[in-house]
Amino acid sequence: MNLILLGAPGAGKGTQAEVISSNLNIPQISTGNILREAVKNGTEYGLKAKAAMDAGDLVSDDVVIGILKDRIARDDCKNGFILDGFPRTVPQAEALDNMGVQIDKVLEIHVEDETIKSRLSGRRVCEDCGATYHIEFNPTKTEGKCDKCGGNAVQRKDDAPETVIERLKTYHEKTAPLKDYYEKQGKLETVVGQDTVEATSKLVLKAVGA
Ligand code: AMP
Repeated sequence: MNLILLGAPGAGKGTQAEVISSNLNIPQISTGNILREAVKNGTEYGLKAKAAMDAGDLVSDDVVIGILKDRIARDDCKNGFILDGFPRTVPQAEALDNMGVQIDKVLEIHVEDETIKSRLSGRRVCEDCGATYHIEFNPTKTEGKCDKCGGNAVQRKDDAPETVIERLKTYHEKTAPLKDYYEKQGKLETVVGQDTVEATSKLVLKAVGA
């Protein structure tokens, strides 16, 4: 099954993508994680992407489409995948269609902006494996350490309040139109994000038939 998870930054896409990934045994493909890794390693496209990411803006379509194309060509995607954070613009969605990639379902996790602003201030992300946590709603077992790999769980630079406002603006302007795009293809299903990860996961797993 090929799935897309849509939602504003901080709606819980990454966490729910992990849950679906382990339940359906298909890889989670997060363009944000791939880009952060590239920035960390100082690769050519990492250097190009850094300024946009730090400002809460989107990285250019050409760069992310290239990344995505390479990633889904890999063997582990043969039986399906979950796209987490891609597409984020209509041209990215069109590129996916033009590649002949068949998408089975697009799941939107809907969370109000005000809730997102307070959630992101408590979010922590593992520097090494990208697993996400929240200091209140989904804490690491040991403070500051990733449960999965033991890496440092830290606040992302772009989770700073001013950057979050920019990211939400970008989401409403550039990404939210994808709801219409996939609604017209009959693929969109919306799940309302709940107060706990577990409650949202129940709805999400039901929506994907897991
Ligand atoms: P995320 O971890 O999904 O919130 O992504 C972090 C940042 O990476 C975003 O704010 C963008 O700057 C960049 N990014 C991730 N995915 C995309 C994408 N599909 N298109 C453009 N920029 C992206």
